[in-house]
Amino acid sequence: MSIISDIIDSTKAIIKGMSITFAQIPKEKWTVQYPDDPVTVQPRYRGQHLLHVDELGREKCVACFLCAAACPSDCIYIIAEDDPRPAEERIGVDERFARVYNIDYGRCIFCGYCVEACPKDAITHGYNFELSVYSRADLLKTKDDLLITKQKQSPNYRVAFSGEDVDSEYKEI
Ligand code: SF4
Ligand code: SF4
Repeated sequence: MSIISDIIDSTKAIIKGMSITFAQIPKEKWTVQYPDDPVTVQPRYRGQHLLHVDELGREKCVACFLCAAACPSDCIYIIAEDDPRPAEERIGVDERFARVYNIDYGRCIFCGYCVEACPKDAITHGYNFELSVYSRADLLKTKDDLLITKQKQSPNYRVAFSGEDVDSEYKEI
């Protein structure tokens, strides 16, 4: 093959490739300029967990340890405590609550087994994916970080179809 035909073939290939590139320029862009623009997450997205409370603000978790037992990464740490006070004075919905409830996000694989195992709907996945930290120790989240009453909605994401009934208090953005 002569050098001339090589040049012609290469030129054709470049023109073909660039025509595809230029054809995309006027089309709608799907790239999100995060964090300047919010990311849209799907309703079933599994982000940082939420520990839920009932309508009276009492913690739903009864420290049964089923979530910890189901966790394949062994990253849930619970210390249970009895609370024999009258129902309206209790921290939780039952006579037992989790005094300590930690999840180590350095180990969590966001499999959702803990959510499936919970008999009280006390734990679900929220949507927060902004878990980057500078120290591995900061990946350990405590009950204060996980309680739904203490977590704040980041302005950097929103939930798709959030007008519909998705299983999260974060649906109203
Ligand atoms: S999502 Fe999976 S790995 Fe993470 S805490 Fe729950 S059970 Fe464990
Ligand atoms: S979150 Fe659910 S499964 Fe885990 S200890 Fe609390 S009540 Fe039990």
